[in-house]
Amino acid sequence: MSNHIKAYRADLHIHTLLSPCGELEMMPPLIIEAAKMAGLDLIGIADHNSCENAGAVMKAAEGSGVRALPGLEAQSVEGVHLLCLFDRLDQAEAMQKSVYANMIPFRGNYKYTGEQFVVDSEGEFLRYCERHIALPTSMDIDDIYGRVTRIGGIMIPSHIDRQATGIIDVLAMIPQTPDFDALEISANITPRDARIRFPSVGSKPLFQNSDAHWLSAIGSRRTILHMEHRTVGEIKQACRGIDGRRVENA
Ligand SMILES: [Zn+2]
Ligand SMILES: [Zn+2]
Repeated sequence: MSNHIKAYRADLHIHTLLSPCGELEMMPPLIIEAAKMAGLDLIGIADHNSCENAGAVMKAAEGSGVRALPGLEAQSVEGVHLLCLFDRLDQAEAMQKSVYANMIPFRGNYKYTGEQFVVDSEGEFLRYCERHIALPTSMDIDDIYGRVTRIGGIMIPSHIDRQATGIIDVLAMIPQTPDFDALEISANITPRDARIRFPSVGSKPLFQNSDAHWLSAIGSRRTILHMEHRTVGEIKQACRGIDGRRVENA
């Protein structure tokens, strides 16, 4: 048992104003302020199929005490949402490159996409994202899992209890492979009820995140991660219960 394990309050699924469904207020400095107010130690930035604002949030987090993991919420060809998180921006960008290469190159038409804002760490407008990011990719779940894992990230199926975009509604169950480290449930169900309602969840750790699209939602759902450091490797070890690390539902 290690003596260096701390309890980190984590909300690992937060959108920015880059996501067409994300509110305009979801700007890097305001996201960090809201995370601090909510007492969070660790957040994940996951816009649909894109990490173009993740670096700005990481920069806004510097010196705040909040650690922001860069990532994206990939959409598989089956239509399943998959939360992909990394330690470093270059890893997230490598995954974004794969995602962009496997999307219909449908250019931004804001009538259909909603406005997709790329901003800097202070929330200043830089550009519009040119792609329609809220579309499925042509990669299947195994392909996305393989790519994320090879880059050194963690892939957690998003809000598994949700209709249409949750893995259970699409596949009717949690598949045996790939061997997911953990699963995410939405704000609409408790971990206990999720295990009862969906037996294929088995004993996998369940993360509950806010999936925030507006500021007041940040931290409204959270998971306590008992681990040494706020890294993807430590999160994976917490999922496996290594040396006293663990995932606790708040
Ligand atoms: Zn989603
Ligand atoms: Zn989401």
